[in-house]
Amino acid sequence: MKNEIKFMVADITTLEVDAIVNAANKSLLGGGGVDGAIHAAAGPELLEECKKLGGCETGHSKITKAYDLPAKYVIHTVGPIYTGSSRDAAELYSCYYGSLDLAAENDIHSIAFPGISTGVYGYPKAEAAQIAVKAVVNWLDEHKEYGMQVNIVAYSKEDYKVYEKLVRG
Ligand code: ADP
Repeated sequence: MKNEIKFMVADITTLEVDAIVNAANKSLLGGGGVDGAIHAAAGPELLEECKKLGGCETGHSKITKAYDLPAKYVIHTVGPIYTGSSRDAAELYSCYYGSLDLAAENDIHSIAFPGISTGVYGYPKAEAAQIAVKAVVNWLDEHKEYGMQVNIVAYSKEDYKVYEKLVRG
């Protein structure tokens, strides 16, 4: 299997990949947006497993099973709440990079990311997209033989265009 990065418009809860990434909050106990959609689709067992994890720091990631979702695992990552400081970018980068590390540790070879922090956490979408792509491309470059299929998921055509513009220039 080759390393690959793909962009798509989709509801991440419908994807049959090894792992979907959740834009969680530090409690890991669910929330709105993509977090709420993932918990609703996975069913109550996901929350039960999350309760045992003891939360998660910003920029870090934890893994659970995916229960009723078509994916096998959910990787919960906590994006920064956008403030405009340089720390935001480093934390967002580590959400993507660290989720890929955790995925590889769990023999995951296909993964889907939502636009972490680009909803209620307020990260400007173009800046966030640039960091997301940079982190994924760097990880793939540094793990050339691994064989990871990365799907970057936009939830709307508008959001998809942000990635398209970034990749096409
Ligand atoms: P955060 O708190 O990290 O900002 P949100 O859930 O508010 O997280 O938003 C993150 C991104 O996920 C937003 O760009 C939003 O449009 C997108 N999103 C929301 N629901 C879904 C879904 N079901 N599938 C894919 N992306 C989604």
